[in-house]
Amino acid sequence: MTASTKLNVDKAPTMLRGSCLCQGVAFAIDGPVTDALYCHCTMCRKAHGTAFRARARIKSADFRWTKGEDLVRYCESSPGLYRSFCSVCGANLISTFDARPHVYGLALGVLDDDPQVRARCHVHVASKAPWFEITDDLPQFDELPDARFKW
Ligand SMILES: [Zn+2]
Ligand SMILES: [Zn+2]
Repeated sequence: MTASTKLNVDKAPTMLRGSCLCQGVAFAIDGPVTDALYCHCTMCRKAHGTAFRARARIKSADFRWTKGEDLVRYCESSPGLYRSFCSVCGANLISTFDARPHVYGLALGVLDDDPQVRARCHVHVASKAPWFEITDDLPQFDELPDARFKW
């Protein structure tokens, strides 16, 4: 394995780690992180308490809690969509979807390692906070650009 430890941007790094603010909860991802974007919808803004949610997609089979799973709570923010968070510090973790059990949404901000992916667009810009100005050149979509993003 020693020869393959060199970072390769074309290949997803293995064993990404993430944790909450209070360090009571930790998790690991053994697989690719994909479809990163910035979501400006009202629910994401409220859940994160900030201008937008930086999120990506992972396979649920690649994900496991490594610490403090008993501290994790789930909020059903829309029917069949559950946002998980640490019950001690409130950090957003993963989202799960009744309709798509094979994938999870991942709040990129709680990662401790670099997932290598970078956000490729802004979505739900029609719901953007009036006090926040998007200053990058990424594509902006009023809602979700295509069905692939829906979960
Ligand atoms: Zn915590
Ligand atoms: Zn959102």
